[in-house]
Amino acid sequence: MSSRRKFLKLAALGAGALGISKTMGKASLFAETPVEKGPVVISTWNHGMPANRAAWTILRDGGTALDAVEQGVRVVESDPESTSVGYGGRPDRDGHVTLDACIMDHLGNCGGVAFLEHIKNPISVARKVMEDTPHVLFAGEGALEFALSKGFVKENLLTEDSRLAWQEWLKTSQYKPIINVENHDTIGMLALDLNGNLSGACTTSGLAYKPHGRVGDSPIIGAGLFVDNEIGAACATGMGEAVIRVAGSHTVVEMMRQGHSPTEACRLAVLRVIKKHDPALIHDLQVGFLALNKKGEYGGYAIHKGFNFALRNKFTEILMDAGAVVG
Ligand code: ASP
Repeated sequence: MSSRRKFLKLAALGAGALGISKTMGKASLFAETPVEKGPVVISTWNHGMPANRAAWTILRDGGTALDAVEQGVRVVESDPESTSVGYGGRPDRDGHVTLDACIMDHLGNCGGVAFLEHIKNPISVARKVMEDTPHVLFAGEGALEFALSKGFVKENLLTEDSRLAWQEWLKTSQYKPIINVENHDTIGMLALDLNGNLSGACTTSGLAYKPHGRVGDSPIIGAGLFVDNEIGAACATGMGEAVIRVAGSHTVVEMMRQGHSPTEACRLAVLRVIKKHDPALIHDLQVGFLALNKKGEYGGYAIHKGFNFALRNKFTEILMDAGAVVG
C-alpha cells in the first residue's frame, strides 16, 4: 500500500475510533468534556481584574474560551491608563508605540503580530492572522498593512501622558528594565470554557523605551503563550528575552504533561530560567508564568515576589499573589 493510502486508511480508522469532531474545518483529536466546576479565567497582574470581568460574561453564557480571551485582553489594550499594553503603552526610545500580541485556541490554531504600530487592539489582528491566513506571525509594516486590509483603523497610540513620560526619560535615556514596574505589565490570559476547551491570549507594548525594532516573547507561540488542549495552557510576563531562551510557556505545558500541578509546572519553568542565566543577573531579572490545566486548576510562579494574577470562576473573583523563588 502506498504511504499516502496507508495514511488515509489510518486517518479514517482514527476518526471513527476516536470520534473526531470537526471545528472550523479542522479535526480535533480530543473529545469535548464539559467542565465540572464551570469555566475559569486567569490573567496577569492587577489589570487582569477588569479583563477577567469581560471574559467572564462570555464564559458564563457558554461562549468560547477563544472569544473570552480576545474580548478580555481588549479591555486592557483599549485603556489609556494601562501604560504597558496597547493604547497608552509606553513608546520605544524613539517615541514609537510598537505592539506585540498572540492568540491560540484549543485546536492548536495560532496567530500573532509583532512590532505593530498604530492599531489599538493587536490581539484582534493576531486573531485575523490565525483565522484568515495560513501563517502564524506578521511583523512591522506588513502587519500594519494586513490590519488595514482587514478594516482596522490607524490611530495615534501615544497618549499625552506617555509622550510626557518619554520626554522626561529622554533627559537621562537610562535603559534598565525595572522588575514589577508599577505592578502592571503584559496581559496574558488563559481560559477554560464550559465545553472544556482552552484558549489563551497575550498582548503588550513590551519594555518601556526599548530599542526600536525590539520584539519580546509576547507574540511568540511557545514563549509568551502556549495552549495544548490535551493538557493545559500557559503564558508569561517579565523579561521576554529570558522567556524566549527557555521556550517558557511551552516548557510550563510540558511540565504539566509530566504530571505536575500548574503551580509546580510554573515553578519548574522559573527554575529553568534561573539556571540558564548568570546568577549575578538574577537580582534584576523578573519572569513570571501562569498556567491553567484541563481540570480548571491554576497557578502562577515568578522569580521575584510581586507578581500577581486575577482569577474568575463561578465561586470567586480575586487577585492572588503568585509564588516566588526570591523574596
Ligand atoms: N514580556 C514582555 C516583553 O518582554 C514585557 C513584560 O511582560 O513585562 O516584551
